[in-house]
Amino acid sequence: MKLRDSSLFRQQCHVGGHWCDADSGEVIEVRNPSTGERLGSVPRMGAGETHRAIQAANAAWPAWRAATAKERARILRRWYELMVENQEDLAAILTSEQGKPLAEAKGEILYGASFVEWFAEEAKRVYGETIPAHAPDKRIVVVKEPIGVVAAITPWNFPNAMITRKAGAALAAGCPVVLKPASQTPYSALALAVLAERAGLPAGLFSVVTGSATAIGGEMTANPVVRKLTFTGSTEIGKLLMAQCAGTVKKTSMELGGNAPFIVFDDADLDAAVKGVMASKYRNTGQTCVCVNRILVQDRVYDDFAFRLKNAVSALKVADGFAPGAEQGPLIDEAAVAKVEAHIEDALSKGARLVVGGKRHVRGGTFFEPTVLADVTPAMAVAREETFGPVAPLFRFKTEEDAVRMANDTEFGLASYFYTRDIGRVWRVAEALEYGMVGINEGLISTEVAPFGGVKESGLGREGSRHGIEDYLEIKYLCMGGI
Ligand code: ADP
Repeated sequence: MKLRDSSLFRQQCHVGGHWCDADSGEVIEVRNPSTGERLGSVPRMGAGETHRAIQAANAAWPAWRAATAKERARILRRWYELMVENQEDLAAILTSEQGKPLAEAKGEILYGASFVEWFAEEAKRVYGETIPAHAPDKRIVVVKEPIGVVAAITPWNFPNAMITRKAGAALAAGCPVVLKPASQTPYSALALAVLAERAGLPAGLFSVVTGSATAIGGEMTANPVVRKLTFTGSTEIGKLLMAQCAGTVKKTSMELGGNAPFIVFDDADLDAAVKGVMASKYRNTGQTCVCVNRILVQDRVYDDFAFRLKNAVSALKVADGFAPGAEQGPLIDEAAVAKVEAHIEDALSKGARLVVGGKRHVRGGTFFEPTVLADVTPAMAVAREETFGPVAPLFRFKTEEDAVRMANDTEFGLASYFYTRDIGRVWRVAEALEYGMVGINEGLISTEVAPFGGVKESGLGREGSRHGIEDYLEIKYLCMGGI
């Protein structure tokens, strides 16, 4: 990995303002998922180091919460600028450890930075309220206060942006953050810590602890000093962490799994719908929580749509993330490939038809052919579970009611999409979908200015937008009497 500024590549953790190794001296190896090449190692930390990071965060909290919003905003703004200035290096680090095409990685760095910019601005708009009192000699005022020390656990699919949308909001609100990034992608997180330090963020406000998920997560959820846990990852681990947080009644924000439907009605612009599927399904090689998981196509346009989608998918360039024009990188690991293979095998064994792809790519490793399956039914595993890979399953439906029923037939409720030109149907379907987010004639919905989040088992809380900072604030009611 060639960097302009090699000091952005750190192989130590940042705990309470110090760069350090694990107490045990143990390390975790980090590899490039495209080549298998060893990139380096990071400390295998556990409960002890996490405890120290939490203590340092708590010690740094009073001064940070007392700082003016403008002062916090100034430092966050500088952090944002440094991310943008170092976009190339941050993207190279990201592609090396995660595998996504460099162009996508560069996009993620700007997307990630945009949350820090946004929350730097929102810091100054944490307004309280006054309430007409219930008695003549009383006055009621409501103020918003930072919740306290925040623990954050993030996944490998967006090694930069999943951190900034949490840390940007928490720090802007006046909260210190202790972060555990995914072990597959720690270097993007550590580079952010380097830049936070350079931006002038005081020691202890943004610690990064790598290592054992159970030991670090155990301390984060048990320690009473931590007032809030924010997590992005699987529903399974999210439930576990919520249960662990119950012991100290921590607030939680949970961005969990999805099972996104993408409905194509027979009046839709089919080329636009194919474009939407390509953007939503195949971004990050199908490894995002808002990736389309089920494509529901109305009877009359089903074959036409399948044909157009096949052509678009066949043209995708599968390559190492650093190769010019790369569109599909590798999957993150062997387990991810095994899940994709199992879903395809299950579907084919129950009567699905392979339209294109379907097997490991000739490049080897964890590369997989972009795949389209037709004649998929709700009885197949792809209908119920998040595939998290480049597989587009096509379901057939007859009426609008059928489509809505099928779309809502899941315990998840994160992103959903539909394509139609009928204004009445736009409103009916948008209101009927039990999802936190709805893309209407649009396959790309993520932006720092809008509230990202799910309902049902897809999670709690919202990230981005003016609502994102509320997740890190408590309401305090002041009642003044004797006036
Ligand atoms: P994914 O399937 O996307 O890797 P996970 O939910 O397994 O999703 O992981 C998301 C994040 O949660 C990662 O940082 C991972 O290390 C962490 N994690 C996994 N298991 C636990 C656990 N038991 N306690 C705390 N964190 C965990």
